[in-house]
Amino acid sequence: MSHRDPRYDILFEEVQIGPITAPNRFFSVPHATGHNPLMPNGSIGMREMKAEGGWGVVCMQLAEIDPTSDISNLPMEKFWDDTDIKSHALLVERIKRHGALTAIELAHTGIRARNMDTGTPVLGPSSMRILKPQNPIQSKAMDKQDIKAFRESHKRAVHRAKQAGYDMVYVYAAHDAALVWHFLNPMYNHRTDEYGGSFENRLRLLREVLEDTMEVAAGDVAVAVRIPAHDFKSGSPLTYDNEARAVIESLAELPDLWDVNVAGWPRDSGTSRFDNEGHQEKYTSYVKQVTTKPVVGVGRYASADAMASLVKKGVFDLIGASRPSIADPFLPKKIKEGRIDDIRECIGCNVCVASDAYSVPLMCTQNPTISQEWRRGWHPENIPAAPKKESTLIIGSGPAGLECALTLAKAGHQATVAEREPEFGGRVLKESALRGLAAWGRVKDYRLYQLRQMGNVSLYAESEIAAADVAGFGADNVVVATGSIWRDDGAGATTFKAIEGFAGNALTPDDVMAGAEISGPVVIYDDDHYYMGNVLAGHLAAKGHEVHLVCPLPSIAEWMGYTLESPRVLDDMVELGVHMHPNTTVSRWNGSALEVARADTGQELPQIAGAHLIAVGARLPQDDLLSKLREDPALADCVSGIGDCLAPGIIQAAVFSGHAEARRLIGDVPESGIYKRETPVLFDR
Ligand code: ADP
Ligand code: SF4
Repeated sequence: MSHRDPRYDILFEEVQIGPITAPNRFFSVPHATGHNPLMPNGSIGMREMKAEGGWGVVCMQLAEIDPTSDISNLPMEKFWDDTDIKSHALLVERIKRHGALTAIELAHTGIRARNMDTGTPVLGPSSMRILKPQNPIQSKAMDKQDIKAFRESHKRAVHRAKQAGYDMVYVYAAHDAALVWHFLNPMYNHRTDEYGGSFENRLRLLREVLEDTMEVAAGDVAVAVRIPAHDFKSGSPLTYDNEARAVIESLAELPDLWDVNVAGWPRDSGTSRFDNEGHQEKYTSYVKQVTTKPVVGVGRYASADAMASLVKKGVFDLIGASRPSIADPFLPKKIKEGRIDDIRECIGCNVCVASDAYSVPLMCTQNPTISQEWRRGWHPENIPAAPKKESTLIIGSGPAGLECALTLAKAGHQATVAEREPEFGGRVLKESALRGLAAWGRVKDYRLYQLRQMGNVSLYAESEIAAADVAGFGADNVVVATGSIWRDDGAGATTFKAIEGFAGNALTPDDVMAGAEISGPVVIYDDDHYYMGNVLAGHLAAKGHEVHLVCPLPSIAEWMGYTLESPRVLDDMVELGVHMHPNTTVSRWNGSALEVARADTGQELPQIAGAHLIAVGARLPQDDLLSKLREDPALADCVSGIGDCLAPGIIQAAVFSGHAEARRLIGDVPESGIYKRETPVLFDR
């Protein structure tokens, strides 16, 4: 085993946090897991894997302290009463087995709650519409009894956390989603009593709750506060150079740990397209100067050098991570063992965040095993040895093919990858060359690096495989991973058939990525609604083209609401002068202009002229080879398809498909055939 670089020793120092001692500086901060409270086994499996991977502190996701904080339909923890203690106690025990500490983020989400499940009024500092404008819900201004009840409820939750065995409890004040934060912000707090008006008055509730928590913690458990050190919301005084700093200065020595980030969540979880590693530092680094208590902060840190330097420079005491700990639960162990190149770095795509919005167990582009620890028994590092050392030919080296090859090679198969192009990587190779998507190249870089270290892998570039070539490989299994190409005929998410004048005339994203010559104004018809349309718009606008982005839905890039990128995309498009045409359907491309109409009323709109049309809609699976091989009786049983050549989708889906197929080939399939399910308890009445 290689040894760790002494430069990183500092990351393995213990850190005192009030009454507890973190075994190292790796801190997996609270993050949504997509596991609702009825899925404790899955949630425990995910957290335990991080503890096994060396994270010194592993935090639970946001836990509602009582029914008045019902963040309806988002899969957060419910820590409402004593019945919730049992599953948390099991989680704590499982994390501690690995020598890690664990913490629970106790939260009342104030005017970010919806209370549609409980049917009680949403509580806030003032009577106002809640922070989800789409919901016709208004909050009740909390009276003194409500405030007292909230404080008592928070204290009871701290008691329960102690009973469950947690090492640390959080007072949650982050993401523009916490009641105590809502009291702090004069945009939401319009009170005229001692809880409103002056800064000291607005701070009162946070101070009281923190004091209550310290009192109940009584030195048995540590107390952390999670709070933005800067608020990006326009008009908010809670900025790093104003009241956010004043809050932390005022309460500086009160908690045992400051966990700081920025608000709101879209800025906290910035994607690599808009925010670099360490993007929060400018707004959070002052915190250590105003408190002697340990500080943890985040910034999508995945590089050991950056982490060590943060500690050396005195920016943070503990390196906080959610996404890097999802992409690689074994990141700390790999640094410890001197295996830096084995780290599966987060690409900053926020597909994990999208899972939360969908209320499905967390998915990750880089780590297909996340959420599958319990339900499928998948470990991110240990692939079971294949019962028989077989040989597998993988055709295509996109994310699906590379992941399949790597998983099979780890299991002991002889893996051969054949790729038509001179370079490996498929779509991620091409897409990572587009403006803002460079980090996506890590999907191929990580896998190719691993594959190149292995003796049982052969990688062949410039090797197009035809059906007739396959038998010559004599492989036991053939996995077809030939991907998909973009359609040029206009068919997409809302228009399912070809649009007149598109086929043969429109360019596709594949053409642009292959370097198609483009001069003059460009019209992009985006009926895909994810990143490709607006990435191309930005890519071409940045090169000086006049760009029109036409989209049939009411707003552009609707799916990017799930990845929290919508506001940033809009900002980018406006900044680059891209002309946006939402709510616009297309009847025809006439050779020099798009003939368009309002999507909702059908009313004709002025034509949109351009020298080029780019169609971003549906894709065509490249499944000819797969079909031919399946038709060959000698091969049919040993041929399978994975990734986009079966069903074009997001990169995460291709990686998952490649991984799942490799597990199937080595016989690592759960008894149930799909996965273990969490079963509800049934009552007679
Ligand atoms: P996925 O997302 O499913 O992994 P990609 O489109 O990223 O799919 O990758 C598919 C890869 O397969 C591309 O790099 C493409 O060049 C390659 N490919 C397609 N057909 C063949 C073939 N017949 N032989 C070898 N490689 C192929
Ligand atoms: Fe990182 Fe993307 Fe995985 Fe989230 S889904 S952890 S952003 S690689």
